[in-house]
This record gives sequence, structure tokens and C-alpha cells, in this order.
Amino acid sequence: MLLSWRQIVREVNAAPSLQDALAVIVHRVKDALPIDACAVYLTDFANDQYVLMAAEGLSAGSGDQVRIGREGLLGLVAERRELIVVTNAAAHPRYRPSPETDEEPDGSFLGMPLIHYHRVLGILVAWKEPHREFDRDEITFFVTIAAQLAKAIHAAAAVDEVNRMLSGEIHEDLFIQGVQAAAGVAIGTAALLDPLVKLESIPDRQAQNVDGEEAAFRIAVADAQRELASSSERLAPVLTDDVRALFDVYVMLLGNDGLVSDTVERIRAGNWALGAWRATIAEHAHVFEQMEDAYLRTRAEDIREIGQRILARLQTDLRESRQFPERCILVGETVSITEIAAVPTGRLVGIVCMRGSTLSHTAVIARALGIPAVVSLAALPAARLDGCEMIVDGYEARIYVQPSPKVLQAFQQRIVEETALAARLVALREQPAETLDGTRLPLYANIGLGSDTAAALDNRAEGVGLYRTEYPFLLREAFPVEEEQYQIYRELLESFATKPVTLRTLDVGGDKILPYFPVQEENPFLGCRGIRFSLDHPEIFLIQLRAMLRANAGLDNLQVLFPMISTVGEVDEALGLLARAHRELLEEGRAATKPPVGVMIEVPSAVYLATALAERVDFLSVGTNDLTQYMLAVDRNNAQVTTPYDSLHPAVLNAIDHVVKAAHLRGKPVSVCGELAGDPAGALLLLGMGVDTLSMNSVSLSRVKLAIRSFTVQRARALLGAALNMEDGFAIHRLLHGALEEAGIGRGKSSPV
Ligand code: PEP
Ligand code: MG
Repeated sequence: MLLSWRQIVREVNAAPSLQDALAVIVHRVKDALPIDACAVYLTDFANDQYVLMAAEGLSAGSGDQVRIGREGLLGLVAERRELIVVTNAAAHPRYRPSPETDEEPDGSFLGMPLIHYHRVLGILVAWKEPHREFDRDEITFFVTIAAQLAKAIHAAAAVDEVNRMLSGEIHEDLFIQGVQAAAGVAIGTAALLDPLVKLESIPDRQAQNVDGEEAAFRIAVADAQRELASSSERLAPVLTDDVRALFDVYVMLLGNDGLVSDTVERIRAGNWALGAWRATIAEHAHVFEQMEDAYLRTRAEDIREIGQRILARLQTDLRESRQFPERCILVGETVSITEIAAVPTGRLVGIVCMRGSTLSHTAVIARALGIPAVVSLAALPAARLDGCEMIVDGYEARIYVQPSPKVLQAFQQRIVEETALAARLVALREQPAETLDGTRLPLYANIGLGSDTAAALDNRAEGVGLYRTEYPFLLREAFPVEEEQYQIYRELLESFATKPVTLRTLDVGGDKILPYFPVQEENPFLGCRGIRFSLDHPEIFLIQLRAMLRANAGLDNLQVLFPMISTVGEVDEALGLLARAHRELLEEGRAATKPPVGVMIEVPSAVYLATALAERVDFLSVGTNDLTQYMLAVDRNNAQVTTPYDSLHPAVLNAIDHVVKAAHLRGKPVSVCGELAGDPAGALLLLGMGVDTLSMNSVSLSRVKLAIRSFTVQRARALLGAALNMEDGFAIHRLLHGALEEAGIGRGKSSPV
């Protein structure tokens, strides 16, 4: 039996439509188990009913669509969200025979909810003749298969819906549900990103133009060689010898005639360049893998790496020539910062990702740019969407493909209303963030991309509470050298001159992997992240600190922030390196000014070290994105745990409150720079805690300002007092949304259709 549930799931996944998938389910389950009937019902959420979608062994009744209400046994399964086994269904108080069909036979009943992302998508049911019981093995099989099927049904339903939308079926309520990444509404044209292809998956293909393929391949090799050699030279003063040696190995491998000549030979034999290159790399890597010497064996990895690099080059060339539509909605498995940056300014209106979650960095960037984004649409048949008209509803986390004129009109109206609200908020621009009883709470901006600076200034940010320095690192092909970093930081400090600018030192690791410094870790979010990376690589860290200190000379508005601090030792070491960078600059006769220094509180250990940390530095800055992730043990990038990921969880709020009290006792200010600060509800609680500054993406500045201007500190404290005593996040959400509604500044209304 164990093998057969796998087979069934495989068949269901391969079914071309939802209807086919459901037919496979009932047919195969009935075959696999000694039962008399099997049926699958899907939930009609709008009408609170269960619709019979496929059945085997059940008399279908009049032929009309069979719909069952919530009162019967199906309703019981959905309510309880668990397996229900009833030996004599007719005797059960929830048994409801249906006059026109046999959909609730009176024998033994086995019902299992099909749950995906907390929603009961449907119910899988089996029946036996009266008095024939289900045995343990049958029940185990049934439970196992139902658990697997929910995901497949969700995927098949999404594909089905997209197909119906594409075929022009006009259904106002047809949309695909995802997870919210950034609020707002956009109408535009989908532009599908090329998937990042793995070299091993490149197929063989007949070359159309053998000479052209050979030339393109040789150019790619020569370019890659040049680029590697110059990166290695440029970085000579920055990198340790072992890191530099990596570059040299690659240059040498590409110079190896075997790799090039074998590929050319394959191209001339008729394979296209990528297929020929894949075959050559596989062959050479295999030779090394067979070697006895462990060192030589690891050369196989280098060969594969170089293989991937050339592939990326050829793909980049393709991507560079890409034309993006006027109102572009980027659609991809994931959408990276580089891909966002590749779309000409002003054209990008929406982002849609198959993976990701509310707190993934793509989402953070989308919010920073004010671009509506929906993520975690795993089942979307992306390949069919390129060039389609699309609506992204970032409030309800839905997308509409080829929308009907009615839907389109409703969203166009919505965009007009949004623009009007934005104009209202703009009117607040010159007003301070001041409570009704006169307390000021300075609002700073979080920035990372070049374009953020203008948005922050435009929205009257009173400073920069977080500049994510890793962004320029992620956008380059090699570590930016000191001069390059100096220019970036200097320009930023000058743009905000006199207002404080907080430069966070490199926070790579986790989901921010430098393409030119790959790190293989089982669990990267618990690995070499943030300050750990910098302390492991003082040669890179010192360059960054020098660039920052030089940029501050004569301006004196820099603040330095260390990320992911989990021990006081890390702070001492980082401060030591900062002092050393300063000393060395002065010894070299360069102008450099030492700034105030802060540490991020984003790891539970830092919460409980807040006093010791506050004694060592000038300010603390709470990163609620990671603090929530690490306190609640929920991955900020995992769409399956978006519900438990909640920065308004009472444990997170109590932790922040503890940090504020500890820092204030030592006379040190506290800033909050995670996404919680940009949420009007979160901002109110932080105001109540007495947080000294809030830092958020620029598009949130005016909404948060409006919230602060609508409350007194006293009321914010009362809300905080109530929230800190609550036991779960839902109650806190309700409390705050009630308060915001009461003040007339509730959240954006729900979808217009
Ligand atoms: C945070 O963790 O809250 C934070 C601001 O840092 P990042 O989102 O860059 O990890
Ligand atoms: Mg963080």
C-alpha cells in the first residue's frame, strides 16, 4: 500500500487539469482500498458549501451539481479539521441523507479534510456497506494520501484558474491567492524572468549556426577570463591569499586548452554551445571525481563552478538585451535585487514570485520601493504568463490574469482612490510626527538601493535609521574596493548632511549570498551571518570601516551599526577593529571622524544582554524582522509559516519593551528599524514603549506619521499595557486595528471585487 499512495500522488501531480486530478484521486483510492465508494468534495468558500467534484461507486443523482451544506458529516470534518470515522453513519446525529442523491450513504463513513495553508480546501470521503469497519491500515493509508493531496489540489486548482482566465472565461471572482509581500495595486504586463538554469539541466540541441555558436562560446570564455583576472588584481589588497587563489584556479582552468578544445569539438560535431559545454564540464569533472587524492577530487567542484560561470555569462548576455514592457510586472521563481535593478526606472509596477514570504528580502525591497508584490504562488504556470495583462492586488495578496473589463475597471477606480489617499498623505509631509499631546517621535528611513535616497528625502525622513550596505555588494560582481565604497557612503552622507545616517556594516549570509563569495551552509540563517562574517573576514570588514570613517570626515553625520550581534565579545572585537581603522587612517594622514556606534538587537541573546550592550555602545537598534524569526523559530522566508510569523506576538513585544527599558536605564537611545516600525499598529506600541526613533521604508513614513498624529502618548501607553498582558498575537492585532479604525485611519480596504 505504501508504494501505491506515492504512485497516486505522482499521477495526480501529472494530471493536466484539476478535474482530471480529482478523477484520478477517487478512482485510484477506490482501487487501492476495499471500499464501496470514494468521493472528493471541494469547498465553495463563498457559499459555505461542499461541491461534489468526483466520485467513484456513488450514484450521481439527478446529474445536477451536488452541493452539500455544513450541517452534515462533511461539515463536521471541516469544523473539526480532523479525520472522522463513523461506523454507522445513519445513526450519527450529524447524518443528513440527501433526497436526490446518495452522497451521504448510511454505511461506514471515513472523512478527511484536505488542508493547505490552514484552509480546508475540500474533503476526501470513503464509504463501506453498513457494519463493515475500516481497519487501521486502511485509515493510515487514507490519512497519508489526503495529507499529500491537499497540496496537489491547490496546485491543480491554481493552474486551472489561470487556464480559465487565459481562455477568456469571464468570472469576476477568479483570482489566484498568494501571500502578501507589499501592499498596493498595480495593473501591468507580466514579464517572466529567465529561470536560473543549472548547467546539468541544459539539453543537447542541434546547432543552427555552428560558426556562430563557436564564436559566442569563445567570446564568453575570453570575457570570463578577463573578468576573473582583473577582479583578482583589483582585489589583491583586499582579499586574503586563499580567497585570491580561488580566482587564480578559475583563470587557470579556463586557460586549460582541454575544456575549450573539447567543447569546440562538440560544437563542430553539431551540438549547440551550451550543450557542448555541459558535456565537456561533466566529463572533466568526472575525471577529477575518480582521483584518489582528496585535494584533486575537490577540483571537480571548481570545474563545475567555472561551468556555471560561463553559462551565467551567456545567459546575462541574453538578459541584457531584454526589453521590458512599459508597465512591467516581474514574474519569477524568485525576483532578486539584481533583477529588480535591471528594469528601467519607472517601468516596474508589480512583482509576483512563486516562492518567498512576507519577510523575504524581495518583499522588503518591494515595500521599500512602494511596489505591490504577491509571493508564494507556488502553483502558478509561470511559463504561460509572459506578456499577459495582469493585476497585482497587494492588499489581498491576489493576482488576476487577463482580467475582465469589469474587474479591470474596479481596480482602475481603486488606483484612483489610492492616488487620492497618497495626496492626502503628501499634505502631511511638512508636518512633524507629533502626538496629539505634543510628543515628537522622529521618523527615519531604511534605505539600500540608490533610488531610495530620493524617496527618503522626498518623504521628509529625518535621517537614515538603516542603510543596508550589503545591497551595493550584492549588485556587484566582486567586492567593491575601499574607494568605491567611500564614494557610495560619501554621497549618501552628503545627501542627508546634518541629518544622521546609520550605515550598517555588511549583513551577508542567510538569504543574502554574495554571488562572488558563495558559502555552502546547511542552515545559513544560523550560520556565518552579519557580524560573524565580518569578524571572520577582517580584511573585508576593515576596508568597509575605513571607507565609512573617511566618508564621515567633515560631515560628522555618520552612525555605524553592527548587525546580528549575539555576544558582547563580538561587540568588543568589532569596536576594536573600528578603533584600529580610525587609528590607521590618521597614521596615513587621512581625514577620518569617529562616529557614534550602535548594535542591532535581532537575536534573543542580545535582548537579555541589552544592559551590557548598552554600556558598550551609543545606541541600540531593534531589528524586528530577525528578532521575530529567531524568537518564534519561524523562518522569515518560508511561506508555510507566514501565519505564525508575527512581530506583534506578545513575546516579541515584551522583548522589545525589555530592551527599551534596559537601554534607557543606561541613558542610551533605542531605535526600531524592522518592518514593525513601518506598520501603524506596531508604531503605536513602540511609541507607548518610549522608543526614541523609528526607521522604515520611505513609503510607510506618511502613514505612520498619520497614526502618530492621531493618538496621545497616554493612549499609546494604555494600548501597550493591554497588549503586553495579552497571550496571543491575534488579540493584539484586534486591539490595535480597533484603535486605528476608531481613530479613522484603519488599514486599506479589502479588494474591490
Ligand atoms: C531586521 O532584521 O529587522 C532588519 C532590519 O534587518 P534585515 O531585514 O536587513 O535583516
Ligand atoms: Mg536583520
